[in-house]
Amino acid sequence: MSKIFVVGIGPGNLEDMTLRAKKAIEASDVVIGYSAYIDLIRDYFPGKEMLSSGMTREVERCRQVLEKALEGKTVALISSGDSGIYGMAGVMLEVMHAEGKDIPVEIIPGITAASSAASILGAPLVHDFAAISLSDLLTPLELIYKRVEYAALADFVICLYNPKSKSRSEYIGAAREIIMKYRPVTTPVGIVRNAGREGESLVIATLLEMLEHEIDMFTVVIIGNTQTYVKNGRMITPRGYRIY
Ligand code: SAH
Repeated sequence: MSKIFVVGIGPGNLEDMTLRAKKAIEASDVVIGYSAYIDLIRDYFPGKEMLSSGMTREVERCRQVLEKALEGKTVALISSGDSGIYGMAGVMLEVMHAEGKDIPVEIIPGITAASSAASILGAPLVHDFAAISLSDLLTPLELIYKRVEYAALADFVICLYNPKSKSRSEYIGAAREIIMKYRPVTTPVGIVRNAGREGESLVIATLLEMLEHEIDMFTVVIIGNTQTYVKNGRMITPRGYRIY
């Protein structure tokens, strides 16, 4: 009986992978994923058959998963972080429905980039927050900016995924301009690159000078709300506890 696991592997180190994710990969005949993510886990599963493909090949990857599963194999389709947060869970289910197939799919969550980054920065997500992807490959840019605007207006802490790529270098600046309408320029901004992976780095900046730091597609940017502050190098969003 074939089965599909859609596995969130967490940021990429074994300790931040759930036991359930590890067991699902071990139980699979073949693991399929974006090449950079396959590279992150290959050494943890020696001898396991792994098939990788490039970025923007998501639909093809799901079809490949389906093909293997129809051959009777157990397949793990991997996502970095959480499989259901800008991950493969949605497109896998959509492809399955479009193809009119009904193979059991088990979705396994993982630690998303925002949680990994937050834990490194301190405690910036202890109050309400919004996750917004600045990638307009699949979402109209006006809608992205509208979400940034409303999240800023409502004083959500804002986690920006996919903040900047070569072809989308301007969006982060435009998002910053929108947010500055509602927050002081001194608002703390956490910039974490490769959270939980080799080459991890972090910067705690402000809205004013955040663009002076390196931001790319391996970075998640966490913009504090109007209450967020920095103390002893940690970024903290107060929940409202009275501390005597
Ligand atoms: N499913 C993933 C997100 C995929 S979208 C998750 O739950 O984390 C890809 C974006 O996530 C990247 O452009 C980056 O903004 C962010 N990201 C993923 N892993 C990261 C990491 N280890 N460190 C910093 N940002 C990361």
